[in-house]
Parts: sequence; C-alpha cells; structure tokens
Amino acid sequence: MYEISSAGNKNRFRRKIISLGRKIYLSAEETVFLWDAINIIPIFANMNERVIEKLKVLAEAAKYDVSCASSGTSRKNRKGMLGSASGWGICHSFAEDGRCIALLKIMLTNYCMFDCAYCINRRSNDIPRATFSVTELVDLTIEFYRRNYIEGLFLSSGVVRNADYTMERLVRVVKDLRTVHHFNGYIHLKSIPGASRELVNEAGLYADRMSVNIEIPNEKSLQLLAPEKDFQSVFQPMRYIQQGALQSAEERKRFRHAPRFVPAGQSTQVIVGATADSDKDILRLSSALYRRPTMKRVYYSGFIPVNAYDNRLPALKQPPLVRENRLYQADWLLRFYQFQVDEIVNDAYPDLDLEVDPKLGWALRHPEQFPVDVNRADYEMLLRVPGIGVKSAKQIVTSRRYARLGAEQLKRIGVVMKKAQYFITCRELPFLTVHELSPEGVRHILTQKTGKQATDERQLVFQFQEEV
Ligand code: SF4
Repeated sequence: MYEISSAGNKNRFRRKIISLGRKIYLSAEETVFLWDAINIIPIFANMNERVIEKLKVLAEAAKYDVSCASSGTSRKNRKGMLGSASGWGICHSFAEDGRCIALLKIMLTNYCMFDCAYCINRRSNDIPRATFSVTELVDLTIEFYRRNYIEGLFLSSGVVRNADYTMERLVRVVKDLRTVHHFNGYIHLKSIPGASRELVNEAGLYADRMSVNIEIPNEKSLQLLAPEKDFQSVFQPMRYIQQGALQSAEERKRFRHAPRFVPAGQSTQVIVGATADSDKDILRLSSALYRRPTMKRVYYSGFIPVNAYDNRLPALKQPPLVRENRLYQADWLLRFYQFQVDEIVNDAYPDLDLEVDPKLGWALRHPEQFPVDVNRADYEMLLRVPGIGVKSAKQIVTSRRYARLGAEQLKRIGVVMKKAQYFITCRELPFLTVHELSPEGVRHILTQKTGKQATDERQLVFQFQEEV
C-alpha cells in the first residue's frame, strides 16, 4: 500500500499532479503511482485521525499471529519498483485452491484481561492500547475492500470482560459485514477461548474459516505460562466448530440452500520454543488434530521473546526459525506424503534434525528401504524418496508407462537429483547409493556448507530454569 502520509510522498504526488497538465503520456510507473495515490487519498481523508491511530496500534498488535501467512513488513515505494508494503496490517494467506489472497489482519481490541507470558498484548504490558467500535471496523474493512486493497479480513481480539462479551462483538462485526454490507470476501475469525456454543455457532454462519489457538502443546506448560487458560477452554470451541460444520454438511445434503458453516474449516497455531516440549510432542498433537475432519492447518510460530523480562520463558536471541521450518516440512509429510508421526519423531528421535529435512532424516535412518527402483516402485514408496515430491511422483508413475526412465527424464520431471541420486536406481547403472556411501557419508555430502557459516546462529539455544 502506498504510504501517502509521509511528507516526501506528498510532495512527490503534488509534483506529479502539477506536471500532469503538461504531459500527454504517463509512463507505466507514473500511472501506477497516480492510480495508487488517487485511490488512497479518499480512504485516509475520510478516516479520522483517531481511526488511523487505532489502525496502526491494532494492526501492529495482530502481527504475531501467524495463522494467516505473512504480515508486519514495511517497504517504501522506490523508483523502479512497483508498489510498496506498509506495516498496517495487510497480510497474505492462501485459499483452499492455492490462491494467494490479501487480508486485512487486525484486532478488534488489544486490551486483554489475560496475562499470557508469551503475548505482547498481555495485561501487564505497558503498550499503546486501542479498541475499534464495531462500526469503525466494519467501515474500515468495506473501504479497503472497495478499493481492492484486500480480499478479506483476518480478525482477532484480546479478551475484555469475559469470553462471551468479546466474542459477541466479533460476531457483530462479521454479521454486519455479511448481512448489512453484503460483503462477499473471505473472513477468518479467531474464536475466543471459552466462548459459548451459541456465539461460536452464530459466528460460523458468517466466517469462512475459524480458529482457536492452542499456543502451548501441553496443558501443564499452558497453565504455567497462561494461568487463565486451560485445554478445555481451547478445545471446547474447536469442538463446537467441528460439530457445526458436520451438521451443516449433513443439512446441505438434504436441503441445497441450508446455510454453510465455516466452509474453509478451522486452523490453530502452536508456539514453538517457548517451552521445553519436543518436536515429538508438537507433531503428535498436530497429527491428532488432523484426524479431526474440519482441521485444515496447524501453524507453527517460532517463539518471539517479546516479554524478555518474564523468567518463565527461555532467553532467546532470535526466534527458532529453522526449527519452525522443519516442523512445517514434517507437517507436510503428515498431510501429503502418507507418513505417520512416529516415523518422523519418536522416543528414540524426539526432535527433528535441524541439519536435514525430515524426509531425508527418515531416509538416512532407514537405508534398508533404499535404493528404490523408480521404474517399478509403487507411488507410496516414490513419495518417500528424498528429492521426489508429490507432483514428480505422479509424473513418474505416468511417464514410465511409455518408457523406462533415466536420470535425464527424472531431471525434466522435476526430481531433485542432487538428493535423490543416493536413494534410487533408474535406467542407467545405479549411482553410488546410500549403501555404498553409508548414511553418514550421504549426510556429509548433502550438508556440506558452501561458503556459509558452519553453524546457524538463528538456532534455538536456551537453558530452562528449574520448575518455577
Ligand atoms: S488471551 Fe490472547 S491476547 Fe490475551 S494475553 Fe493471552 S494470547 Fe494475548
């Protein structure tokens, strides 16, 4: 979004407007610039200062929630570049069909009566606070949507007074958007832990997706870090969402026009690295959640030490980004590669290997399963070969009906031969496989650093205190 509020941009815009009278053609860049500026002026001119201030505070407060993909970046418009990004809460998420959609990511309020140790909005923090009225938030969403800045809304909130009081306001926002303004964009609504069945059921009629964040993967740690929450308050609204969605699906089988209930299912978020829980604990929880019919995504959020003064939390210099990435890869294996959770992490290997991706880690622990003959192996086994993805595995199965496949064809199909070569045989004589080279040898070859630092300083290194 173009940030018209900065003095430099205002002057630049004025110069452009003045020169417009003398010009016959505008360059593509100038056209885009003016289009942005002309569109954005009315939106901020119509908004009073108070709402703009609230927008800044509440979009900033929402940025730590990763249940929709990106947020929090800020880039100014620069010469030669198209557009810009502002920190005011526009983020991107992915629809069911894989489309990337821009969402206004915002909180209704960042006041909160809870004091969760890991949260910037906890009541004991001295930070700027703000609350939108229902009307302000509805108008803001409609203004952004009409100008095509967003395709949807991601709405969450701190808890004020009690769970139902807050949830009721969230429901009013989404209900007004749908019924008064006939808003047809995407809505992702966070349900408040402990909210009643009636309110969750009403919200589900207007939201595309709902989520309740688990945050901490075991109840004992949750109660240590968020004393006002328990698993019951998190899992109960999840169950209401699931029951509502299943009931709606049944009704729609009988009556075509029965209302839809959270058609995009539900999601949740787990914070990684705020407690001593292992990857095994986290992935077992995810695996159990994926067995529920309406759970679509579990998001992993590397712990960001926003409240460094709280000694219940580990002292991290950086969020554990590599671990977060490995968890997403393992999650992918659970959902699309037919892996069971105990194959990826178990009592012998409770944590993911940070040096190699989880599929390669599994293959190195199971050399007896390799090499796989790509011209004969079944689809399920092809999926387990490092360097072969879902798309490549499908193409291999199709292509080998017509000819025996060799290294060249595999490369063309998209197989990452740098990895796969140690685990397959194909038309040519076999490469040196994991058997000839040994798992350690393959690991050494594939983890050799080229000019990069041998250790990743972003990694999680922490000492937990004894029980507080
Ligand atoms: S309830 Fe939510 S907003 Fe409030 S402190 Fe806990 S995590 Fe933060």
